[in-house]
Amino acid sequence: MSAEKSEALYERAVKCIPGGVNSPVRAYGSVGMTPRFIQGANGPYVFDEDGNKYIDYVGSWGPMILGHNNPMILEAVIKTCQSGLSFGAATRLEVEMAEFICQNIKHMDMVRMVNSGTEAVMSAIRAARGYTGRNMIVKFAGCYHGHCDAMLVKAGSGVMTAGIPDSAGVPEGCTRDTMTAVYNDLDSAREIFLRYADQIAAVIVEPVAANMGVVLPEKGFLQGLQTLCHDHGAVFILDEVITGFRLTFGGAAEYYDLEPDLRTYGKIIGAGMPVGAYGGRKEIMDMVAPVGPVYQAGTLSGNPVAMAAGLAQLKFLCENPQIYTQMAKTASRLFEGMEKLLARYEVPCTLNSMGSLGCLYFTREHVTNYEIAGHADTEAFARYFRYMIDHHIHLGPSQFEAMFISASHTEETTAETLEAFEGWIKNR
Ligand SMILES: *Cc1c(COP(=O)(O)O)cnc(C)c1O
Repeated sequence: MSAEKSEALYERAVKCIPGGVNSPVRAYGSVGMTPRFIQGANGPYVFDEDGNKYIDYVGSWGPMILGHNNPMILEAVIKTCQSGLSFGAATRLEVEMAEFICQNIKHMDMVRMVNSGTEAVMSAIRAARGYTGRNMIVKFAGCYHGHCDAMLVKAGSGVMTAGIPDSAGVPEGCTRDTMTAVYNDLDSAREIFLRYADQIAAVIVEPVAANMGVVLPEKGFLQGLQTLCHDHGAVFILDEVITGFRLTFGGAAEYYDLEPDLRTYGKIIGAGMPVGAYGGRKEIMDMVAPVGPVYQAGTLSGNPVAMAAGLAQLKFLCENPQIYTQMAKTASRLFEGMEKLLARYEVPCTLNSMGSLGCLYFTREHVTNYEIAGHADTEAFARYFRYMIDHHIHLGPSQFEAMFISASHTEETTAETLEAFEGWIKNR
């Protein structure tokens, strides 16, 4: 497979973009390669600059739930573009988007649009702090909530790992109020509450953790967190940037029958345009400027073209709930097929999956949290990745990223993927 053009672009890119990429998850360093530059995409396929075609399991990290280049979404975008790209003033599409979300998502009184998942989380946390008058935030190791300073803490074994930043450039002062608990370990969160209950503004959690591979919440974990928050006057924030509109239209809140105080969205809500949102209970959202004292703003927030794309996708998903059963069917065919092959050839891997999300871990252990995920053999993953991309399967270039299945994946893409997968097993 030729990668000449990608390699030439990469050479140019590294000279003027840090690492040659505008987001580190796109770099191929951890799999010992240079990135393939994507020229275009259609349905379940992406095409690189050298003309290679791949079955895509990245899906722009989630937004392309209907597959790439969906004609209905493109049409909405093109039509909206023709009236102008941005006005910095209120528009009809923002109202339609907010109404649509509030009418179709339970317990969602009000919503504010922003430009990314990071902004959504940062703003939700600010609103929770403003509302409670408290500072402390509880998060879980291995949950990713975007790159705002206060959330760049995940490290740490043990229950009470306070505030060591994961990134250079984040002052300890910014993460001092971020406490890290262990995913799927309700007691670890309870211990933090025992000590700091009256200082905790919010608990934030990925209801299905999809940034350390795919880790499912154990029975009672999410419900227990919700109760803990409600018992102690803390705001319960579900980060639905990946799970929102994916597990079901109502996301994890609907799937697990939760009633979060705030929710954050990104990815699917923009259909591939830069969009995020946060929303929930009216009395918390009423804290946000210009109504309340919590300042949060955005020159391009609620951009009409982005709203048109997102709204077209959300409407389609809402009106066609069979999409979710169809995706689950495609996904279970693929994941069950992979598991059968793993068992037949006694490959020391574990596959975690949930609906249209899955992750092949290079460990035999049952992965339920960040520490166990960390036992995976990343060198073995790198070899697997290189085999798969050479055989036209486009995966996220890291052991700790999910596979995203879209409504455009078919029995044919599943069969081709399983064929490549078996090839890897035999040639490993
Ligand atoms: C991707 C992601 C974010 C950050 O969203 P960006 O749009 O990349 O800023 C936050 N939370 C979760 C759960 C995510 O998966």
